[in-house]
Formats: sequence, C-alpha cells, structure tokens
Amino acid sequence: MNESKPATKTSAPTLLSRYWHVILFMLVCSIVAVRLNREPARRPTQPFDETPAVTERPQRASEPVAPPENPALRRRPLTEESDETNSRAQEALRVLVQNHPAEEVRVRLNAWIMDGRVWLNFQRSALDRYDVIAAAMYVHTPDRGNLLTLVVSPELLLDPTQNQSFKQLVIFHEYVHIRQQIQGTFPPAILMTSFEGRPSASFIRLWLQAEFEAYEEECQLAVRLNMSNAFEICRVFAESGRANLRRTVVATLANVPAYADHSDLIRQVGATLIGD
Ligand SMILES: [Zn+2]
Repeated sequence: MNESKPATKTSAPTLLSRYWHVILFMLVCSIVAVRLNREPARRPTQPFDETPAVTERPQRASEPVAPPENPALRRRPLTEESDETNSRAQEALRVLVQNHPAEEVRVRLNAWIMDGRVWLNFQRSALDRYDVIAAAMYVHTPDRGNLLTLVVSPELLLDPTQNQSFKQLVIFHEYVHIRQQIQGTFPPAILMTSFEGRPSASFIRLWLQAEFEAYEEECQLAVRLNMSNAFEICRVFAESGRANLRRTVVATLANVPAYADHSDLIRQVGATLIGD
C-alpha cells in the first residue's frame, strides 16, 4: 500500500462529484452481497448432525456438475415430514450407515454423505410411487440445481416390523446406484426413472444394466453375510444364480405400477440381457 501522498483538503460536494462512480460501485456491491447471503427457500436435509451445512462449504473443482433439471421431480412438491419424525429417521439412518456390515457403506457412503457429495432427504412423498424404504435420485433445488440425494421414507425406515437385514440390503443397493453416479459409470438419467414421455429401448437397456449391477452386488453381499433370505430376489440368486436373478428383476420392475406404461418394453429389452 502506498500512503506517502499528502492528504489534500477537498470540500464534500467536490468529493461527491469526483468519486460518485466509486460510491455507486460500493452500493451495487453491498446489494449483491446481501442477495448472495440469503438462505435458500428449501433444501434437502443436511448431512449427519456433526457436519456443517453443505451450503457453507466453498465450491471445489472436484464437485460433480449438476445434471439437467428433472421436471418430474420439480412438479412433485416434496412435503416435509414433522421435524420429530425427520430427526428420528436421520438418527436411524446414521446408525444404519455407520454400523453397516459392508465396509463400502460404513466408510465410503458415510464419507460421501459427510462431505456433501450425497444429500439426505426424508420426504416420503418422493417415494410414494415406488413403495420403497429408500432410493437414490436427483432432487431438484431452486438454488443449487439437481443434487444427488438418498431419499429415505421415515415411516418405513423406522418401522420395527421391517427386517433389519432387509434395510441394510436396501441401503447397500442404493449405495451402488450412488457409486455409479459419482464414478460416472452410468448417466444421471437412469436415476430419473419416472419415465416422463416415451423411453427408448436403449435407455431401458442402460437402466436395466444399472439395476442388474445393483441387485447382483446387493445379493452377493447378502450371500456373503448369510442374509439372502431377507429379500426374495437375493434368495433366488442364492438358490439359482445370476440369470434367474435377472429374470426376477425384470419381472419385478415390469410389475411396478409406476412403470406400467412401459412394462412390455422392459420385458422385451430385459429378455435380451438375461444371459449377458
Ligand atoms: Zn435400483
């Protein structure tokens, strides 16, 4: 800094007329700063309690680029569960992840949640069409675009009649989908399975391949941990191998009510992939 110049006496009106552009610039800067500091109207639940809010982290070059908007998610507003249910579900998920029998979930998924690459959301309405405990999907936010999110149904996660091994297998399956996205082995579109419009056969092929990978790894884990009876598809895998697992997956997905319009295409494309 150079402060050697002697100060010169100048009257206030002269200062104003000489520095009006500086004053205007500072005014614009402060308006921009106030706008940037505003909290977003709504965002997915932040990671496990001990981590800072993701919005406070600086942007890093390694962060995944948000995929294109998913209009299906945007049109389906996510209604908030009560805070109490929400925080109990968050705690149950933390315990489930951090004590998971698979190291990939315990260490890797946990780290992705903690560093904000994976967001958590406990809004059951996002899962209503699928009747599942949890699903990896992109959730659209107005301020940050689409975020890779593990959406969890608080009711089903907290339901004591749901088998604990089954819950662990579901979370492992979703971990595989999240890994596919983070490692870029499948495109974001395969997690947007509401099938707005008419999906092409090549899209269904890709989607089924991602599902096969997730179910096969899930069932290999189930066999390794002696949990295959907790889930019908894994029981089939344990008893009669990979081709029958794929047949069962295709039949199951073709019967999901949300995919009813495309069940023929799912069966048709699925049949070509059984022996791959
Ligand atoms: Zn899946």
